[in-house]
Amino acid sequence: MELQALIQKQPLVGPVSEYKEIFWGNPDYGKEVELPFDQRDIDDAEARLARFAPYIKKAFPETAPSGGIIESDLKEIPEMGRTMGVDGRLFLKCDSHLPVSGSIKARGGIYEILKLAETIAEEHGMLTKEEDYSKLTEEAFRKLFSKYSVAVGSTGNLGLSIGIISAKLGFHVTVHMSADARQWKKDLLREKGVTVIEYPDDYQKAVAEGRAEAAKDPRCHFVDDENSRDLFLGYSVAGKRLKKQLEQKNITVDEKHPLFVYLPCGVGGAPGGVAFGLKTVLGPHVHCFFAEPTHAPCMTLGLMTGLHDQISVRDIGLDGKTEADGLAVGRPSKLVGSIMKTLVQGCYTISDEKLYYYLRTLADQEGIFIEPSACAGFEGPLRVVYNDECEATHVVWATGGAMVPREEMDAYYKRG
Ligand SMILES: *Cc1c(COP(=O)(O)O)cnc(C)c1O
Repeated sequence: MELQALIQKQPLVGPVSEYKEIFWGNPDYGKEVELPFDQRDIDDAEARLARFAPYIKKAFPETAPSGGIIESDLKEIPEMGRTMGVDGRLFLKCDSHLPVSGSIKARGGIYEILKLAETIAEEHGMLTKEEDYSKLTEEAFRKLFSKYSVAVGSTGNLGLSIGIISAKLGFHVTVHMSADARQWKKDLLREKGVTVIEYPDDYQKAVAEGRAEAAKDPRCHFVDDENSRDLFLGYSVAGKRLKKQLEQKNITVDEKHPLFVYLPCGVGGAPGGVAFGLKTVLGPHVHCFFAEPTHAPCMTLGLMTGLHDQISVRDIGLDGKTEADGLAVGRPSKLVGSIMKTLVQGCYTISDEKLYYYLRTLADQEGIFIEPSACAGFEGPLRVVYNDECEATHVVWATGGAMVPREEMDAYYKRG
């Protein structure tokens, strides 16, 4: 469709096409629709992660304090809230510091590979669901998995998660990366025995190449960031985990105490899975917002035009280039876009420069360092409007950062 025709249909496309920051409220939010997943799918994923906990604990000893459960803290950040002028309590969900791979991808990415390993081991009669999964660290399993391979296309963090867990289990793993992915991420993966293939074009190209490579080999599992149910459900478990953390902190979620959650969005799997999990377990008074860079607002564009994966940010003249790792995506996930139609309350865009400002402010006020993309959520509490008789709780989802090398982080900080 022509840009002018799109603008006629949805006037916000105008400012979006000029790299302006916008806020879009979803007119379909909260409508009753049939979704492809429900609570049972989340419970099933949670149970699988519990079965694997003894394995994770043994293979990644840093997870011992949580018994092999990969989870992050929910931290109140009052100084940041005061500095920003946020109304209500402000929390940071520290997926930036998730064990194993230091980003939100440690949820969905690791889950998908664990499920794959379980399926293969069961097919070979080497594992039953009742057994202690720590046996998966044994040589016999590494030998079994070495007959299989895993491929994924990634801008960085998904590759890190898939690469680390796949290599640990014994799979051959190839990560197809866009050339603009950070050098340290490529180096770290190669160190762990992962094959990294670089593409001069963008992320979508890397994914397409990965998919084509994998299609030639029946023993190769392709992690499809644009369509994967397993990734989505792995992320959704966060809903149950956050509910528990809120209860532990005596934070009520009801009509008078709404919970607002701000999620940085790339292709949509991670924020989509988390939002689905939250809405399913917490109900109508949790409200999720997606944050995207002004240069790559693919989910915002797909949702506001109703065209989902049928439109790319390039179709409206945007370059798709942003420093926000993981968010430089031109086209939203086909699977997730349609599910979010009624689950996300709104979307907003933020300039790259502001990401650095928030990065620095968080470091100065709270002593917490996260990566630029993970700062996209911070604009949210200043944008949402709600009944001022309510006592709101805001959760900014910090999606990555712990693995960023010190010098890189220093450079980010200085830039802020
Ligand atoms: C991947 C990623 C996101 C977004 O996840 P999608 O599933 O691509 O939407 C956000 N922040 C960081 C740091 C990421 O790595």
